Amino acid sequence: MHIAVIGNGIVGTCIGAYLQRDGHAVTFVDPLEAGEATSYGNAGSISPSSALPVGLPGMWRKVPGWLADPLGPLTIRPSYFPRVLPWLLRFLRHSSREEVLRLARALHGLLTPVFESYEPLLQRAGASGLLERNGCLYVYSGRDAYEKARWGLDIRRSLGADLREIAEAELVAMEPDLKGRFRFGVLAAANGTMLDPSALTKAIFARAIEDGAALRRARARSVVAAGGRVTSPELENGQPVGWDGVVVASGAWSGPLAEALGVRVPLETQRGYHVTVASSNLGLRHTVTAPEHSVFATPMRMGLRLAGTVEFAGLSAPPNWARADALLAIGRDMFPHLDTRETTRWMGHRPCLPDSLPVIGPAPRLANAWLAFGHGHLGMCLASTTGREVANLVAGRVPQVDLAPFAATRFG
Ligand SMILES: Cc1cc2nc3c(=O)[nH]c(=O)nc-3n(C[C@H](O)[C@H](O)[C@H](O)COP(=O)(O)OP(=O)(O)OC[C@H]3O[C@@H](n4cnc5c(N)ncnc54)[C@H](O)[C@@H]3O)c2cc1C
Repeated sequence: MHIAVIGNGIVGTCIGAYLQRDGHAVTFVDPLEAGEATSYGNAGSISPSSALPVGLPGMWRKVPGWLADPLGPLTIRPSYFPRVLPWLLRFLRHSSREEVLRLARALHGLLTPVFESYEPLLQRAGASGLLERNGCLYVYSGRDAYEKARWGLDIRRSLGADLREIAEAELVAMEPDLKGRFRFGVLAAANGTMLDPSALTKAIFARAIEDGAALRRARARSVVAAGGRVTSPELENGQPVGWDGVVVASGAWSGPLAEALGVRVPLETQRGYHVTVASSNLGLRHTVTAPEHSVFATPMRMGLRLAGTVEFAGLSAPPNWARADALLAIGRDMFPHLDTRETTRWMGHRPCLPDSLPVIGPAPRLANAWLAFGHGHLGMCLASTTGREVANLVAGRVPQVDLAPFAATRFG
């Protein structure tokens, strides 16, 4: 078949590459270069065991604080609150203990094969060196803070995660830069790091183009469905695209395209920021996550990236750069000897459904359209397996992961 993949972030790129491995002709449609939207500036943490949804029990108590503090780890722009309220109510409904367990089991299935499903794509692209399996350290101000977060970690352990408690002396021996600020840690030894998430996306994409994929540098305005099939694409620049099938993988912008295919999904964006410090004066060997500050400190090839936090403000509001500056302040606090002379800032749009699961599956009632978006906080981890599973669906093979929890129709 000739399949058009709309979106060349990490998700669309992995889908295209896997479809090619099955012998399909692929045309990517995207006005941007590969890996230039959300897949550009994320924290690059690759965690096969991060199977927890974002919504956790008791979160509803925090909503007033989210509205009051524009620089907090999670904030809602007051002007956006009425618009996001229905989504938030659904999100809070998915944060009960029972729901968290159900969602964690679903995520676990999709997360576990992350390395094995990236491997063939990275090998083919000659880019295996961009994904290191160096482990991740969760660091806490003390054992008390760890105990407060333990419930979620124990759910991950019950699903098989190897999360080893680390006392202060061992923590400092592993990462001398953490000395003084953090007194307790947890090592996720099986985790990895993308040394440059955008370069990794671009490498897989470039190889797909070398292997014969085509590219239309344009926005898809809509897709037209009739008689149980997608019949015609509409590109903003009017270019014609001939195709036998379509995959919508347009990240946070997928809503209108899914709707054109007959599926309404409550897709919202949780905006996040980064500051990348070029010459950090640190020697971190692991990705370091400080849950009390909602920040990742990832050693990447372009410097130390401090990334994280959540802002509800929609797709078009300008960035609030004070949030990126706040990340830098946290970085200085975590690492007092951080050299912050040379920094860059970035904001990106996580595509989020209220249950923290992506949509992966066929468009209902259409024989030649598939949906793959909404990968939220875990898109870099989930993309390769999503690619593999979409290729299974297109080929009519039985998926290797149970995709029922990811059906687009689950929202009614
Ligand atoms: C601060 C931050 C930190 C993060 N850290 C991590 C992490 O450590 N680990 C992890 O796994 N995930 C992380 N994430 C999440 C991850 O970055 C995203 O889930 C992932 O990048 C989403 O990929 P995507 O391909 O779906 O979307 P994107 O990368 O946003 O790509 C979507 C593409 O679709 C295109 N597009 C949109 N509309 C159209 C249209 N109509 N026609 C054609 N093309 C269109 C866009 O131009 C874009 O290129 C983080 C995110 C943020 C913001």
